[in-house]
Amino acid sequence: MVQVNGLKKSFGSNEVLKGIDLQVSSGEVVCIIGPSGSGKSTLLRCLNRLEKIDGGSVIINNVDINQKDININKVRENIGMVFQHFNLFPHLNVRENITLAPVELGILSKDEADKKALDLLNQVGLSEKINAYPNSLSGGQKQRVAIARALAMDPDIMLFDEPTSALDPEMVGDVLNVMKDLAAQGMTMVVVTHEMGFAREVGDRVVFMDGGYIVEVDTPDNIFNSPKEERTKSFLDKVL
Ligand code: ADP
Ligand code: MG
Repeated sequence: MVQVNGLKKSFGSNEVLKGIDLQVSSGEVVCIIGPSGSGKSTLLRCLNRLEKIDGGSVIINNVDINQKDININKVRENIGMVFQHFNLFPHLNVRENITLAPVELGILSKDEADKKALDLLNQVGLSEKINAYPNSLSGGQKQRVAIARALAMDPDIMLFDEPTSALDPEMVGDVLNVMKDLAAQGMTMVVVTHEMGFAREVGDRVVFMDGGYIVEVDTPDNIFNSPKEERTKSFLDKVL
């Protein structure tokens, strides 16, 4: 479903991705871990062309997303993205946040979108907040709405960039449980996370990045219990 080949990305003279190769299969959950500044967010942003790349290719569902003649908006409709800071529209209530994109893009009628919003809010445990505004929600609730909003487009793949890093500790579990349910339903997911417990339990594979490279990719069991690379070991020694 996702095929990244020799991906390079620089900001000015700072080469942030130095040749990334990564495949993600349908239904797979790939967790990306690694120190701050290693290029995790940049890699994720390259997967829906939020960044212009300098080399290599990103192929999603057999489409090379950096080709000039492709319709990037069509590609993005199939890629849900959830950020650390939620990015909900503050002037719209929860229902409107969730229904805006599918209605505006003509994918669902208003009635269909409203029904879907309620289904999705049930799924993330927030149906009673359907008319609430973002500023009345806790961080964990906002993040669950952000996940519901991304799901409203029926994406083939969901990208998460540290979805729990901005949350108070007591909210983290609710968001991780929603993500775990999603994984169990077969969603293809790429998750940048500092939650090693989640990566270990829910990840099919774990990618360790450092310095713009993928240092090691393996099953959670191998990464956490018998990492092959020194850099992986020393990172895990610091965070576990
Ligand atoms: P991570 O998510 O692993 O912490 P990032 O992908 O955010 O790492 O950043 C990797 C490097 O790229 C850092 O050195 C960061 O300063 C740089 N960087 C990221 N985004 C930009 C940008 N928009 N402009 C300039 N430098 C950037
Ligand atoms: Mg980041």
